[in-house]
Amino acid sequence: MRIPDHLEGDAVGKVALLDLTYPELEDLVLSLGQPRYRAAQVAEWLYKHLASDFKEMHNLPLALRDRLAEVSEIARLTPLEEVTSQDALTRKVLFSLLDGHTIESVLMHYKRRHTVCLSTQVGCPIGCPFCATGQAGFERDLSTGEIAEQVLYFARELQEAGQRLTNLVFMGMGEPFLNWEATWKAVQALTDPRRFGLGARHITLSTAGFVPGIEALAQKKSQVGLAISLHAANDQLRQRLVPLNRRYPLGALMKACRDYVKSTGRRITFEYALIEGLNDSPSHAQGLAGLLSGLLCHVNLIPLNPTAECAWRGSPKHMALAFRRELLKEGVPVTARIDRGLDIRAGCGQLRSRRGIDFSPHKV
Ligand code: SAH
Ligand code: SF4
Repeated sequence: MRIPDHLEGDAVGKVALLDLTYPELEDLVLSLGQPRYRAAQVAEWLYKHLASDFKEMHNLPLALRDRLAEVSEIARLTPLEEVTSQDALTRKVLFSLLDGHTIESVLMHYKRRHTVCLSTQVGCPIGCPFCATGQAGFERDLSTGEIAEQVLYFARELQEAGQRLTNLVFMGMGEPFLNWEATWKAVQALTDPRRFGLGARHITLSTAGFVPGIEALAQKKSQVGLAISLHAANDQLRQRLVPLNRRYPLGALMKACRDYVKSTGRRITFEYALIEGLNDSPSHAQGLAGLLSGLLCHVNLIPLNPTAECAWRGSPKHMALAFRRELLKEGVPVTARIDRGLDIRAGCGQLRSRRGIDFSPHKV
């Protein structure tokens, strides 16, 4: 039987298995003359046993394994460089894609959680000046499989250590809402009980404030969490920090946030990177409290990670503490992200941008 047209291989000539939806995987299996239940077996091998080679799929007939290997492919990411922070709690991998582009993903260990931070694009078109990914420009969107495979890579590593991946954050390279179709398909693969089966509550999408994306997520009525990279509470300052603010100013963004909370009942996390002398005064904190007043939310303060092409620096600790105090006084729930991973340039896009320059990590 012929492989259905919509499953035709890409430029490399093979179907990328991790790009497929579950019904597409069934179509592929049926097109190879196999019963439908074989799709469930293949899905289980891919997403639960984390197989990276058809040879491992020993409950499939040998002929099917051979045919699958002929027409399709599992792994499309090659780890190029891996670095671990000195405290061994953060591990970052630079992957090369089939076309030679590179992306980064990070695994972070906490007391009871193992969180993977994922990329959705090669570079990012939004161009926030403080962000290494934004500084490097935009190349292309990632496919569903390229997004999901980052998760499977770390899940495999955790499995070997007798651990389990517990959380996913879309806070690596790129703007997930500008690559919405592939991102959502990856979320579906990762939450589908027949495939990876992670609870949607354990996934957070982070956006620079792309309003149509917030609306699209609200419509999904899913348990996936939403984080907004706010960084400033007035338009004048925010458009310097997050250029997307010119298209979706705070009025439109906050309306979308309020509608999102109304329709989902879910709390939003606002990320706020504290930048010395720019957005970190007590009056900025009051402005932020005013903007968020009455909204079901939570603020996460992050010290800015310095990057090569931007002179801005993270706020000193006493400013961060004063900022937090001010928010608490105004009744805004706030946490300050533990300052971790700095020694391996865990900020998004930083490993990629410094590759081959003065990057001297402690290699693993
Ligand atoms: N594009 C999306 C998701 C990826 S960026 C977004 O902007 O939300 C993930 C987070 O890292 C965002 O909150 C972003 O503002 C933050 N970030 C980027 N560069 C940073 C830096 N140098 N220091 C601290 N946070 C940074
Ligand atoms: Fe893109 Fe997010 Fe970086 Fe801004 S912070 S350039 S939106 S990845």
